[in-house]
Amino acid sequence: MSTWEDRFSPRMAHVRASEIRELLKLLDQPDILSFAGGIPDPALFPLERMQSLYAQVLADAGQQALQYSVSEGLPSLRRWVAERMTRAGAPCDEGNIVITAGSQQALDLLGKLFLGRGDGVLVERPTYMGALGAFNAYEPTYADLGGEVPAGARLAYVVPDFANPTGRTMTRRERDRLLDLAETHDVVVVEDGAYRELRFSGCDEPMVLALDVARSGSIEDVRTVFCGTFSKTLSPALRLGWICGPRAVIEKIVLLKQGADLHASTINQMVAERIVADGHEAHLDRLRAHYRDHASAMQAALARHMPMGVAWTKPEGGMFVWVRLPEGLDGARLLEAALAEERVAFVPGAPFFAVGPELNSLRLSYSLSSPEDIDEGVRRLARVIEARMAYGGNAAQVAAARA
Ligand code: PMP
Repeated sequence: MSTWEDRFSPRMAHVRASEIRELLKLLDQPDILSFAGGIPDPALFPLERMQSLYAQVLADAGQQALQYSVSEGLPSLRRWVAERMTRAGAPCDEGNIVITAGSQQALDLLGKLFLGRGDGVLVERPTYMGALGAFNAYEPTYADLGGEVPAGARLAYVVPDFANPTGRTMTRRERDRLLDLAETHDVVVVEDGAYRELRFSGCDEPMVLALDVARSGSIEDVRTVFCGTFSKTLSPALRLGWICGPRAVIEKIVLLKQGADLHASTINQMVAERIVADGHEAHLDRLRAHYRDHASAMQAALARHMPMGVAWTKPEGGMFVWVRLPEGLDGARLLEAALAEERVAFVPGAPFFAVGPELNSLRLSYSLSSPEDIDEGVRRLARVIEARMAYGGNAAQVAAARA
């Protein structure tokens, strides 16, 4: 008799639960100050408007709101997205847009479209762990975007604005270089713009897609596809995102979308379309003000509490700060100690690396905690780090010293 392991397809060898996710499941306990969850603050969800809009949509569209609909997404919502992409510098129309189940599905479908076993994917160090999770099932090999481009490279994946996990934004020069490299090696660029609308300081950099349109002359001639999402601006539970790219790509994605789940939720698309039609900019301004306050509380707390030798990023948007610990400290072991000794949580950095993890790193999210909790949590975290630095990173010695 075969075991289930024998029956799974060979691609499943690349699909594994992350130890970190397992560990993070334990974080629901109320006394833990957590900087782990990379999710929007629910206080920012437009709850009351959603309540009335679902009722309105059901009243106006009736049964149609509950029916199947087209795989590419509702034309009116696609038009709204196309207008927004056009205003952001990538002139296009609804034929260049497909609505997906969040941008996570966009990454999966793009993996399916472009990647076969052994194909090279160029990624940042570190990169969004969920993109690796989506691509892994297509059995690619990964290489560092900053290093030598291996033969067989097919795709470059980037989060240019307020990246998950680093909070970093690519400079204009880095974006131009990325397109130069993509041209030289004939690779597709996947631009993940999940946090793009959450800029709270500094000035917008052009989308890589916009730079590509400027070079190529038309969206139909670019090598970049852009993934967007309503998760960070409205609500992740809508499960609505989009891909913007040349028609040739969109048409194939629509076929794959049909095979995957037929279409995105009809009623959710109808609600999203109505909610963005009115007061969306004011809503975005409220989100940005919230994240600005939380980000500056975290910067202040890090500056106040962290010992010398610890470095961190200063994001201009989004929800993450990336912390680099002194050499020899390990983010995963630090998490165990932080939970046990100080009841504070974060995500260790290693799983965000496709190859050659830097163990001495971690991700902090300032999305969910109040400025007071941010200060207290960073103070606790600094204490755990300081203790380990004092003993050269040796947890056994620390335990002995405390005993
Ligand atoms: N890309 C990035 C960089 C993200 O951080 C996330 C969510 N954590 C996603 C994509 C997927 O989000 P969604 O499917 O909700 O759009």
